[in-house]
Amino acid sequence: MKLLEERILEDGRVINNEILKVDSFINHQIDVKLLNQVCEELASKFKGIDRVITIETSGIAFAVGIAQCLGNVDVVFAKKSKSLILDDSNVYKEEVKSFTRKTSSQIYIDKRYLHENEKCLIVDDFLAEGNAAIGLISICEQAKAKVEGVAIIVEKKFQGGGQRIIDKGIHLESAAVIEGFKDNKVVFVK
Ligand code: 5GP
Repeated sequence: MKLLEERILEDGRVINNEILKVDSFINHQIDVKLLNQVCEELASKFKGIDRVITIETSGIAFAVGIAQCLGNVDVVFAKKSKSLILDDSNVYKEEVKSFTRKTSSQIYIDKRYLHENEKCLIVDDFLAEGNAAIGLISICEQAKAKVEGVAIIVEKKFQGGGQRIIDKGIHLESAAVIEGFKDNKVVFVK
């Protein structure tokens, strides 16, 4: 999506060979006008979705935006820490390695908020190695829900997560796809 690519070139900051910071419009301050346009564009690629699934925290705003465009379907976000009132029998859970922290931890979704045969769309802000998205796919599989697709705001293609999702036969759409970083600049896939 040209608008998002232009904004990344203007305001994104390449931190090292791995990380792009987009705090001024996606991850800390959110440009809601841009968010609405990105969400409309991504939502237009999917039909018949019952529920949008994401992971706290940065995916939530985009998941809600896309869910509104899909007819105000419900959103459920996986939690990174388990609430005291939940025991293991009440949750679907999966171990996920954090790309930014390089450590693994459990993510959880309460069984009441994800159901068999529901058509789910997984949404996240970034796709790097694909661990977060694949963890969410695994949780949907545990619930016997159907993963209809994965919608990503910024995919870093060179980190391989996109290919892992495509290899599972899952429909992947990304609003901006980064080929790599060159001299601290973002290079997009043509
Ligand atoms: P993955 O699980 O695909 O390796 O990484 C995706 C998750 O890591 C996203 O949920 C996102 O929060 C975080 N992430 C990965 N790469 C970046 C990045 O370049 N910038 C930011 N801000 N977050 C990232």
